[in-house]
Amino acid sequence: MAAIEMRNIVKEYGDGFKAVNDVSLDIADGEFMILVGPSGCGKSTLLRMIVGLEDITAGDMVIGGDRVNDKAPRDRNLSMVFQNYALYPHLTVFENIAFPLRLQKSISEEEVRRRVQAAADMLELNEHLDRKPANLSGGQRQRVAMGRAIVREVNAFLFDEPLSNLDAKLRGQMRTEISRMQRRLGTTTVYVTHDQTEAMTLGDRVAVLRRGFLQQVASPRELYEQP
Ligand code: ADP
Ligand code: ADP
Repeated sequence: MAAIEMRNIVKEYGDGFKAVNDVSLDIADGEFMILVGPSGCGKSTLLRMIVGLEDITAGDMVIGGDRVNDKAPRDRNLSMVFQNYALYPHLTVFENIAFPLRLQKSISEEEVRRRVQAAADMLELNEHLDRKPANLSGGQRQRVAMGRAIVREVNAFLFDEPLSNLDAKLRGQMRTEISRMQRRLGTTTVYVTHDQTEAMTLGDRVAVLRRGFLQQVASPRELYEQP
């Protein structure tokens, strides 16, 4: 069974414009799926429909076997990492990472500490747990956003151009880290990027969108190493 199944997904905005048009795509359990395409082709809209931040006009979104079209974001059990990190400025690194756990009332404080610690270990954030986001570098903020994503078990990670605000060197480091983390956790991932190197090194498959249509789905090799 696919982790995420999209069946003829359409997103029509108020003026009748279809930002996403009849997209069907199965993402396998544990797969790292890259979404690429020119600006405005519907990548963010599709990601936002998976996570539940955008209503689906037509079609079925099935996550872990459940049709989630009418489910609120919090009931889909997904983690999204945004381009601008979307950290809470008034909260410490610890509390930023702990945030999704605090929403699950049944988790004890001890368990929260244990899980935040494990995420911080994996992302080398241990020395920064008491700091506020304003006092962190871009790379550290990105790590906090990732810590918040991995702190609980989810059906999938969704990334919207997570590295595009970082300089080239950090991008390379974080790319390696995301790859390592995803392999270790084995969590299904959907990752929007403009960066061919990211698509090549991270992706099991690449889905190409064009003007709202799914144009092609291929392995990175098939797509980028054409003669
Ligand atoms: P991408 O992420 O690939 O750059 P988007 O998903 O952000 O593309 O946008 C796809 C298309 O939908 C674009 O033409 C964009 O202008 C349009 N669009 C996005 N959000 C809205 C909205 N809230 N209302 C109307 N049109 C929108
Ligand atoms: P990105 O290029 O990162 O996908 P955009 O700058 O296209 O982001 O869009 C930023 C925000 O503006 C999104 O929330 C999107 O839904 C909204 N938006 C984009 N295009 C339109 C539009 N034509 N009308 C209304 N809202 C839009």
